[in-house]
Amino acid sequence: MAAHARDDTPAMRQFHRFKKQHPDCVLFFRMGDFYEMFYDDAELAHRVLGVTLTQRTEGVPMAGVPYHAVENYLRRMIEAGYRVAVCDQVEDPAQAKGVVKRDVTRVITPGTLTDEALLAEGRENPLAAAVVIDEETVAVGWAELSTGAMAAALIDSHEIADELARIAPRELLLAEGDMDLATVSGQNMTQFAPQIGAVLTERPAWHFQPREAEELTKQQFEVATLKGFGFEDGDNLIRPVGAILHYLLETQKSSDGTGRTRIAHLRPPRRFSRQHHMVIDHVSLRSLEIDRTLRTGSIEGSLLGTIQDCVTAMGKRGLRHWLCYPLRDRQLIEQRQRVVESFVADDRFLTELRDVAGQVQDVPRMIARLSVGRALPRDLVGLGRSANQASAIASLLSGRPALKPHLDRLEEAVRHLSELARTIADACIESPPGHLRDGGLFRDGFDASLDEYRNLQRDSHAWLARYQKELIEQTGIQSLKVAFNKVFGYYIEVTAANRDRAPDHWSRRQTLKNAERFITPQLKEFEGKVLSAEQRAVAREQELFASLCDAASAQTDHLHAFAEVVAALDVLACFARRAVRHRYVRPQIIEEPGLRIQGGRHPVLDELLGDQFVPNDVDLGNETTASLALITGPNMAGKSTYIRQTALIVLLAHTGAFVPADAAQIGVCDRIFTRVGASDELHTGQSTFMVEMTETANICHHATESSLVILDEIGRGTSTLDGLSLAWALAEYLAARRCRTLFATHYHELTALADTQANVCNLNVTVREWHDQIVFLHRIVSGATDRSYGIHVAKIAGVPPPVIERANQLLEQLEVNHRGPGPSQPGAGVTDTEAGPNSAPPDGQMSLFTEYLDHPAVDALQRMDLNHLTPLAAMDELRRLHDMLNDRPNNTTH
Ligand code: ADP
Repeated sequence: MAAHARDDTPAMRQFHRFKKQHPDCVLFFRMGDFYEMFYDDAELAHRVLGVTLTQRTEGVPMAGVPYHAVENYLRRMIEAGYRVAVCDQVEDPAQAKGVVKRDVTRVITPGTLTDEALLAEGRENPLAAAVVIDEETVAVGWAELSTGAMAAALIDSHEIADELARIAPRELLLAEGDMDLATVSGQNMTQFAPQIGAVLTERPAWHFQPREAEELTKQQFEVATLKGFGFEDGDNLIRPVGAILHYLLETQKSSDGTGRTRIAHLRPPRRFSRQHHMVIDHVSLRSLEIDRTLRTGSIEGSLLGTIQDCVTAMGKRGLRHWLCYPLRDRQLIEQRQRVVESFVADDRFLTELRDVAGQVQDVPRMIARLSVGRALPRDLVGLGRSANQASAIASLLSGRPALKPHLDRLEEAVRHLSELARTIADACIESPPGHLRDGGLFRDGFDASLDEYRNLQRDSHAWLARYQKELIEQTGIQSLKVAFNKVFGYYIEVTAANRDRAPDHWSRRQTLKNAERFITPQLKEFEGKVLSAEQRAVAREQELFASLCDAASAQTDHLHAFAEVVAALDVLACFARRAVRHRYVRPQIIEEPGLRIQGGRHPVLDELLGDQFVPNDVDLGNETTASLALITGPNMAGKSTYIRQTALIVLLAHTGAFVPADAAQIGVCDRIFTRVGASDELHTGQSTFMVEMTETANICHHATESSLVILDEIGRGTSTLDGLSLAWALAEYLAARRCRTLFATHYHELTALADTQANVCNLNVTVREWHDQIVFLHRIVSGATDRSYGIHVAKIAGVPPPVIERANQLLEQLEVNHRGPGPSQPGAGVTDTEAGPNSAPPDGQMSLFTEYLDHPAVDALQRMDLNHLTPLAAMDELRRLHDMLNDRPNNTTH
């Protein structure tokens, strides 16, 4: 700002004062019909919003947006990740003596939105806070201001990224000094936050202090102790909660100009325990494309986007939540399944329920707006209409055993909600005005004072007509009019020609070119009455509105219970619709860690390809079957699809949904791990191989017999020998731990593992050769593949014929050489087996190493205890071996 001039007019002095109070916000400063921005804010607005940059005075940049369209500009600012303070005129400019009084009435940040226009209907908009407790633990809290939900959890530091990815906060509060909070991927928060769409906000460390946090939480929930919410004295969990409350009070404080000490609709924080849910780490969440696609980051094409068919906003948000937090308790899963089954069995019931639920508007967000003083008339009317559906839903559920738990939750609420619905419906008209200031929300006959003011206004038309007629008769001026305008109020107008016929006791108000305007004491008195009636009517409507909002707020708990039941039913109905329309079946959930799927399909591809999609079976970790399957086959055959569809089917099963298969038996799973493809982590400054190994280390450390591990192409980021050895060691490690594992690999050498390890089996994707072409059948069969078809794929992909021909020549030679004593000239520089031969018999495969049989590296390799080697230690070992080989004088042949 130093380069800018200082403008010291009174209004600008106000601007500087507010800007100083909100230095990290873009200040929208109301002036007349515009919100203006100045100095750096103006330049920013010009860049982000594309509004014209002007100058208020020399050296004072200014940019403005019209006040009536401000919400749209606010949304864009917030979407771009900025915070905004809105400074309004808090007195009527016409009444102001001197400069009009202004105040900041709203501070809007990405994580503290409540306005409908600023929120996406189907997505939560959480605000999170994290604080480092010690080297191993981080306390995380999160709140959804737009619905009032709060939760907190203690997380192992290495799992903080996973948890944050699931919470997906729009804004993350960190204490000064914690900004470099490390995550599992070795990145700090500044690098990680943008990947999950979060804006980082630094807050004073004392906001996170235990005592401060505890006091604030007690004050917020008006309790003397937090034990009732499950928190101990000095509980570290309360620290992020306190920081969140601080921030909310600060940002919401002045929306009604009062300065709040609590936010009424917030619910006490839940203690979140990871044990109740299947863990999906942030890598799996992303690579399985659960809530957004890898490539575009959009919901379309993701699992969520494909199965989402909810009729309420709460259902849409609930579905994402269920997909990110699958259950681990068989009975709870089965409880959900029973509801889905009852919907599937009765299509009419399903349709009826969706019809009624579809009339329920976004109840939690409407309550939130009510409670922060930002409700519009349509929120109140919508809330009443929604509450009115409670009894209709309850009667639909009654007599159906599967739905009893939902009915029980609803029953207590129904009476209160029906009453609330009636109160609102009796008071308000059906199509409410946009704003309260427009008046007209309440029905005639609802309130005696309001009726009186309204009658006065209505009668005024008749009075005016009568008065005009009287004056015409008195003066004989036929063209005389009694009219009104905003500047002068009521007046009598006569044409210039009749000016002299106006009686002397009329006072002149204004002389126009063709007319003269007058007032009379009588008209003045009438004007006072009418205008005050109008103001009093609006003020009365405001009072009535506030008391109805209070009545609704008093039902917050019942409204939340109702909203939760509707959300759950909506998601379950969505599962049922999918089951009926896309032939999904109820999976049998078992406690044993087995996995059996018949005719499994990929939920997204199945929908895209329809009949073209080839279903496949899985049989893993059951009594007589291996727990680890190695899947080989050419590129593009369908390996990734197969392993991903298995993960998605397992995930869906744990949400209570039916699954795309002919039949499925699924052992309860504690975690799903995936290591899929070489994720493009270049933007985070990490090497692809390092990322791959970090993810692999995470799997090794945490996978149990109850986990499902999906691996696609481990070891690709390094040279063949390194990669193969790592893949090999990892497969042995996982097989020994009996983790259910699907391992797609291009290292055909690995298939030999099945010969020595009882717990490993081979699968491959069938391919038919036809003339000079290959046809992918996408069918998974047992046994190892013997060719990689890489050159065929290259040909299909359009690699020029001379390159293909030469590759075929080289391949032939390599195949001969590999069967012989060792590689020779044509193979020089070729290190990737994918480009090389794969038809060698199992014992021939080890010829990769024969050249070095007498080398100390081979000896060291043989002595290595692979079962106790972590992947990172394996890396070090490999480097050592590699160095040993490089010391060899005749290593030029390879
Ligand atoms: P790979 O991992 O073996 O390289 P992918 O799983 O990526 O192969 O599959 C490549 C393409 O093959 C997919 O994009 C899809 O179009 C098609 N495909 C894969 N599996 C099937 C299947 N079961 N049925 C029909 N098409 C499939």
